[in-house]
Amino acid sequence: MGTFGELFGSPAAVSADAPGRVNLIGEHTDYNGGFVLPAIIPQRTRVELARRADRRVRVWSANVEPASRWAEFVIGEESPTRTWVDYVQGVTVALRRRGYALVGVDLRIESTVPLGSGLSSSAALEVSVARALRSACDLALDDVELAMVGKWAENEFVGAPTGIMDQMAVSLGQPGTALFLDTRTLGFERVPIPPSVELVVIDSGVRRRLVTSEYATRRAQCEEACRLLGVAQLRDVAMTDLPKIEALAEPFCRRARHVVTEDERVLQAVAALRANDPGQAGELFYASHASMRDDYDVSAPPVDALVEIASSDRDVYGARLTGGGFGGSIVILARAGSGSRVAARVAERYQAECAQRATVLVP
Ligand code: ADP
Ligand code: MG
Repeated sequence: MGTFGELFGSPAAVSADAPGRVNLIGEHTDYNGGFVLPAIIPQRTRVELARRADRRVRVWSANVEPASRWAEFVIGEESPTRTWVDYVQGVTVALRRRGYALVGVDLRIESTVPLGSGLSSSAALEVSVARALRSACDLALDDVELAMVGKWAENEFVGAPTGIMDQMAVSLGQPGTALFLDTRTLGFERVPIPPSVELVVIDSGVRRRLVTSEYATRRAQCEEACRLLGVAQLRDVAMTDLPKIEALAEPFCRRARHVVTEDERVLQAVAALRANDPGQAGELFYASHASMRDDYDVSAPPVDALVEIASSDRDVYGARLTGGGFGGSIVILARAGSGSRVAARVAERYQAECAQRATVLVP
């Protein structure tokens, strides 16, 4: 695996990195103007960079197939390629659109965040590249604007319709804390994760098909629920308005109920973490999972089984499907110091009982 010097012939001038993230609670709330509570994970994407005298950008990534590792484009002439380099081009376009002056650069990318596993390697890539460019080109860009640059790259250049959570979590997250984010105002607070707990993330190995269209369907159903309720966003519906939601037709009733109760669970989880009450936070994890399974219909039987298995482990406070769903990973709130043993026990039982391969992503 080439070093920067071996790849580009001279040493890097700048390096930057950014972590992956896992969402603790607050799922499918972001596009409804609601609350989310992601935390960064230990895995990171690292970018090394040297400025060039021209406007070319040469990029190399250690994390793709050998034949696809190199890519090249020219600042001001970016155009989508439908490959991984679009995330990098998207960042340079987003920065230029905001008026930042860029120069050509050589970039070496290497990540320990697994790609495409729901831990947001995409945001880690966008944010680490933007950070490297910020320091190489002396850009007066704060961390919130940097997150918006990443989101623009992903939504408008790559063409993935995601909310702002990933980039905010990755840009603003700090170790030992979760980021309590209001996706409507982008207001945020860092909430300490109590020293009594540890996060575990296990990939179920299940990936349902048609994820993109299912996601679009959920979004459209939320919009229809808003229309029926006469509100701009489901964020505007209070818990005291639940009877109005119950009166909606299927499936709008269940979709809206998930979103409104999930927002409430985020607020309660923040309070539970602040009160150092992992038992209460864990109960909220289970309730969130049930809501995603029964009301939002984004779980899958093997994922439910994985949560069930985790729930019977003596060192587990709570567990739930994390991320958009349709398969994917679960996040477990485990007793501090027990994380790797919990992960091994749960993964082993899952494989034995469900004949599915689990991958431990954290720790
Ligand atoms: P996730 O963000 O959950 O990991 P995504 O599908 O949103 O999954 O993003 C994964 C994509 O991001 C990869 O397929 C690749 O195109 C790009 N990507 C992320 N990290 C890297 C990397 N280190 N090197 C090259 N491409 C990367
Ligand atoms: Mg992503």
